[in-house]
This record gives sequence, C-alpha cells and structure tokens, in this order.
Amino acid sequence: MTSTIPLEAPAPMLHLTPRLPPGQKHVIVIGGGFAGLNAAKSLARDSRVQVTLIDQRNHHLFQPLLYQVATAGLRPSDIAVPIRAQFTGMRNVGVHLGRVRQVGLQEKWVEVEDDSGHAVRASYDFLVLACGAQHSYFGRSEWEAHAPGLKTLEQATEIRRRILSAFEQAENEFDPERQRALLNFVVVGGGPTGVELAGAIADIARTVLVKDFRRINPSSARVLLVEAGARLLPAFTEDLSHRAARDLTELGVEVRTSSRVTAVDAEGIQIGDERIEAGNVFWGAGVEADKLTRVLGAELDRAGRVKVSADLSIPGFPDAFVVGDAAHIDIGGQVIPGLAPAAIQSGHWAARNIVASIDGRPRVPFRYRDKGIMATIGKHRAIAQTGSLRLTGFIAWVAWLFVHVLYLIGFKNRVTVFLEWTWSYLFAKRGARLITQRDWKLRA
Ligand SMILES: Cc1cc2nc3c(=O)[nH]c(=O)nc-3n(C[C@H](O)[C@H](O)[C@H](O)COP(=O)(O)OP(=O)(O)OC[C@H]3O[C@@H](n4cnc5c(N)ncnc54)[C@H](O)[C@@H]3O)c2cc1C
Repeated sequence: MTSTIPLEAPAPMLHLTPRLPPGQKHVIVIGGGFAGLNAAKSLARDSRVQVTLIDQRNHHLFQPLLYQVATAGLRPSDIAVPIRAQFTGMRNVGVHLGRVRQVGLQEKWVEVEDDSGHAVRASYDFLVLACGAQHSYFGRSEWEAHAPGLKTLEQATEIRRRILSAFEQAENEFDPERQRALLNFVVVGGGPTGVELAGAIADIARTVLVKDFRRINPSSARVLLVEAGARLLPAFTEDLSHRAARDLTELGVEVRTSSRVTAVDAEGIQIGDERIEAGNVFWGAGVEADKLTRVLGAELDRAGRVKVSADLSIPGFPDAFVVGDAAHIDIGGQVIPGLAPAAIQSGHWAARNIVASIDGRPRVPFRYRDKGIMATIGKHRAIAQTGSLRLTGFIAWVAWLFVHVLYLIGFKNRVTVFLEWTWSYLFAKRGARLITQRDWKLRA
C-alpha cells in the first residue's frame, strides 16, 4: 500500500501518490532524460504499475546536439520535447514537475519540492533514479561563472549569447588589445563536448560570421582547445584522436594537450605560469553525477555515481534502481561509459527487472550492447569507431548526421533538424543567431 506524508502545503500536490487498485505497484522514476524516459516508456502499457515520472524540467533534452544550440546552428525547441507529451494517452504514467531533494531508501519515499518551495513526500514500491550528471569544476565552483559548461538549454543559450556578443563587442571596440582579447575563445576539456564546441566556434567564425561584419575580421578569432591529458578524445583509438586533432588544426583551432588549467577568471585562464587573455572561456572538462546521489547513503565512486549491483539495483535496496549517467555499472571490471545508448539500455533494463519482480521471476544481470562512439569536428568532418570499424572525414560526418537525426525524439524535430542542416550545409548560414537571455541562471 502507498501513502502520502505531507510536509508543507500538501494540497496542490496530493495527486503525487496515486490511489492504486489492489495489487497495482507504484513506480517513481526520477529524471526524464534518456534513462528515465525509456524506463517509464517500458512500463507505460503495463496495467499492473502506475508510474510517476518526476523531473525538475518540463522537457526531455537531446544533449548530444546542445553544442549546435550553443553555436547558433539549431534552436532550443529543435532538440527538446515536453516530457508530458511523450505519455499522451498512457493513463498509467503521470508526469510531475519538481525537484527531488531527499530519498528515504529504507522507508521507500521521495521528497519533492516544486518551484514555489512547497514539498511533499510520495511513497513507492519501486524507484528508478535517473538524475544524470552535471559538470565538475574539480572543487573550484567559482570558475563556473566565468566558464559555463554545456549540459542544459539555459547553458547552451548563454554560451550562444556570449559567443555572438563577443563578436558584436569586438566590432564596437577601438582598443586593439581589448578587441583581440574579445575574439579569443578558450574551450577547456578535450572530450567530445570540447572538441565539438571548439570546432563549431572556429567554423561559425570562419564561414558564417566572416561575411557580416565590417570593422573586424571574424576569421581572425583565436580558438584554443586546452586538454590536461596527453591527447584529445581518450575514449577513441590513438589514430582517431590524432586525426581529430589534425582536423581541428585545419579548421583553425589551436590544440594544447598536456596543459592543465590552474585558474579561470573574468579575463582569461592560467596554465601554470602562462597567462592567456580570453573574452570567453567554456568548460567541458569534468563530469560528476547529480548531487541527488549524495543523499542516498549508498556507495559512490569518485564521480559521485552510485555503484549498482548487476541487476542495476542499489546493494541492500533491491527495489531501488539507478540507471544512466548517475550509475556506476561495472561489468566484469569494465565500467559502462556515460553515453546515451548506455542510459537508454539501462533504463529499459531496470524496467524489465521491475516487471520480473512483479511476475515473481528472477532478475537478469544487465548486459550492455556497445554501439560505438562518434564525435563531429566542424561542419563536414567526424570520427567514428564501432567494433573494428573506423570512419573519418566526410563519411563519418554523414554517419554522425544520420545517427543523430535517428535518435532525436519526435518526428517534427527530425524533419526540422534535417532541413536546418541541409540549409546550413548548402548556404553556410546559421538559423539561430539570436542574442537572448541577458538575465540568466546557470543551474536550476
Ligand atoms: C554536451 C553533451 C554532448 C553529449 N554527446 C553525446 C554523444 O554524442 N553521444 C552519446 O552517446 N552521448 C552523449 N552525451 C551523453 C549523454 O547525453 C548522456 O549520457 C545521457 O544524456 C545520460 O542520460 P541520463 O538519463 O542518465 O541523464 P540526463 O539526460 O542528464 O537526464 C537527467 C534528468 O534528470 C533530471 N533531474 C536531475 N536531478 C533531478 C532532481 N533532483 N529532481 C528531478 N529531476 C532531476 C534532469 O532535469 C534531467 O532531465 C553528451 C552529453 C553532453 C552534456
């Protein structure tokens, strides 16, 4: 039996723990990203469960294309869909907008806060925690204001505002020193996010903006990609990572490997003794699980991810599962990477094990199907690796394009993204060059 334990002003949120017919189980899913959405979808037509999907945002976001919003290639609505609309007509799935701030694993409840600060508790029979990850500044959270990361739509439109504003300010600037600094862009972190962002900034400066300014030459913008490790894209083979570095250099990006950023401020960055003045710094260096994992009291890895059992449940709490980027899933000594396919597969798998428990069948240990990895570099090039297959250049870029259009949620989004890209490819234009959101908030 489920019950509601109101904390404050419960009336508006009493529906959170639904009235269930005897025998029906209440499943709470926290997070409407790839993992949570797919867990809920797997359970959506099973009349033996009532699902409540809770997210602090009203939309599911296709994070792999965030850098396109940040560099004015796509609009926010092209890569996001309302979570609620994913469950139209599925009466056993309810969607709740709110931030989960506490979880009681022992007594099986979650505590949710809405935008006005009202909180309620709702109890569950099964929990799927899919709260994802956020940027890590390695304990230097004060760097975030100077170097926003790319994880949400708010951050993407803020980065877009900063990039476009830098060119506008440089056009109005008479001091050549200041003008140069404004057109210096530093991207910290040589993983896929950093590589894609740096390549796209160089691309927009050299092929799109170059035609529209009169006093400055946008193609003189300096784009610096700084990576602490010995090479870019360490998840790829060495030859592909060298190929990516070469492609970036050809696009005009300066690649600096084995360079650890030691300070970030409003005027630039520090790499050891070296000072680099930059009007814009963007962060793609570290990732850690959402801070919600810290309230569980479960064992976490160094990135704050919950170390889960083979069936994806939290050790000692068989009815609570953790999936996607928030989970540390170790299969035979190999930790599953924080990628969309891993999130989708683990979300489905947790749902499958919930159904197994309801049926009284044994649970099945998670099996991961590695679908490979890809990263795009500028407008026409990419690298891809799957099994023993390696792709580079234009062919890899075409493969990247189709895979991303295919994985986008919503037919309309697929069509609009495909048309935007065709238009941008043929005419070297970017459709979303708008400076908006002057009053912004980095995190929810
Ligand atoms: C810029 C970028 C590029 C990427 N590129 C690729 C790529 O090319 N290929 C690839 O495979 N993967 C890529 N990834 C990784 C991929 O997007 C993630 O692995 C995937 O999104 C993880 O899914 P998830 O459901 O675990 O988390 P998320 O998609 O992050 O979803 C988590 C959800 O939980 C919600 N939430 C968090 N905390 C709370 C709370 N306390 N209460 C309520 N709701 C909460 C959030 O609002 C969010 O909707 C990229 C990621 C980024 C950021």
